[in-house]
Amino acid sequence: MSTPRGKMVNAFDPASLSGLSAETAEAIRRRQRLLGPAYRLFYKDPVQVSRGQGTKLYDRAGHEYLDAYNNVVPLGHCHPRVVEAVTRQMQTLCTHTRYIQDGILYYAESLLPGFGGQIGASGHMMFTCTGSEANDLAMRIARHVTGRRGIICTAEAYHGNSDLTASFSPSLGDQSPLGAWVRRVPAPDSYRGDPATLGQRMAEAVAEHAWELKRHGDGLAAFIADSLFSSDGIFGTPEVLGPVAEAVRAAGGLFVADEVQSGFARTGARFWGFQRHGVDPDIVSMGKPMGNGYPVAGIAIRPEVIAEFGRDTRYFNTFGGNGVAMAAAQATLDTIRDEGLQENVVRIGALMTEGLRALAARFPAIGDVRGAGLYLGVEMILPDGSPDAAAAARIVNDLRARRVLISATGPAANVLKIRPPLVFSAADTDRLLTETEAVLAAIYR
Ligand code: PMP
Repeated sequence: MSTPRGKMVNAFDPASLSGLSAETAEAIRRRQRLLGPAYRLFYKDPVQVSRGQGTKLYDRAGHEYLDAYNNVVPLGHCHPRVVEAVTRQMQTLCTHTRYIQDGILYYAESLLPGFGGQIGASGHMMFTCTGSEANDLAMRIARHVTGRRGIICTAEAYHGNSDLTASFSPSLGDQSPLGAWVRRVPAPDSYRGDPATLGQRMAEAVAEHAWELKRHGDGLAAFIADSLFSSDGIFGTPEVLGPVAEAVRAAGGLFVADEVQSGFARTGARFWGFQRHGVDPDIVSMGKPMGNGYPVAGIAIRPEVIAEFGRDTRYFNTFGGNGVAMAAAQATLDTIRDEGLQENVVRIGALMTEGLRALAARFPAIGDVRGAGLYLGVEMILPDGSPDAAAAARIVNDLRARRVLISATGPAANVLKIRPPLVFSAADTDRLLTETEAVLAAIYR
């Protein structure tokens, strides 16, 4: 199923300004006038944020919101260690990668070994400002080294906003064109499919599409997936992508692990999402949580994959890998390690999953609770088992009214999407569960 024209899950409808406070309505009109029609806001009553601290956001009136959605700040909003590192570096020097600087090298040294496999042993890092740029670069390199154009992604994938990455981001909707050389495979739906055969079936679909691409003369350059399948509806079954990687390699393609969502300890069990699948990727792309809010992203890559590209062309990105970006990334990585956040994800993720499963046992409208670590999906269903988008929308908005922020996802827009900062505490979890229970009790009286 493809998202209809321009639609985004949990988007505010600009035609429904009535019922909002005069201040909010005016701010929305001003936004439309200045920013135009392509931006989307969250919630039926959009939130005007003015400040953040830890797992909390505050609006102009000083009301506190529990942020159970923001994965861009794994350490929580405005973490002092990142603020201090960025400030200090900005006061010292902020320039690009055509000068020798220590920070970028120190960061690559800190991060690379943790990838394990071939990238861990001898890989390189290249830096961008956004996840879109990282995936764009990954595909340019994959096409250069394979001499082919074909790309396989999942049915509702999102990989970026550049011309190339949008062409393999079907979740942008049916008015956003896919590349003629793009093929889609169903995400491994552990709820509606047999969990035991997910990997095998996905691998078969990949092999079939790779063959078709070859027949059409494009051939497979790369397969790309977010190992949590966030926009496909969040699927956390491990060990699914192993057989897929084999099928990709058998077809001569590269395996690109898009870790923009699943990287940097988000899944708890492992630091990188692909590691839960036993895959040794050719390229890993990363972004979002990498600088705790500062724009820093990039790729890690096997040396053989980049050798020809490096010989035949060159790479420069004015802001990618600048000194301040590296300071933000280093402080974020060090803090994830020093504060034991991966362990916190395991502990709090288990607590949250358990609490949500207890709610599922009481409310049959919850069909499934799934995901990994602190990236959870709660699938809302109608009595006949079909997707209930209206229920998901209502829960998201009722929680927002109680100042708890989550969102929804999936091709049918019926999966609650919960992915808080990694510093989420037991008390935060208790508040999230208590408010969710109150919302469900009011809806399913
Ligand atoms: N890949 C995935 C899986 C993403 O979720 C996103 C952003 N939502 C991107 C790539 C693009 O990242 P950015 O917005 O930083 O360009």
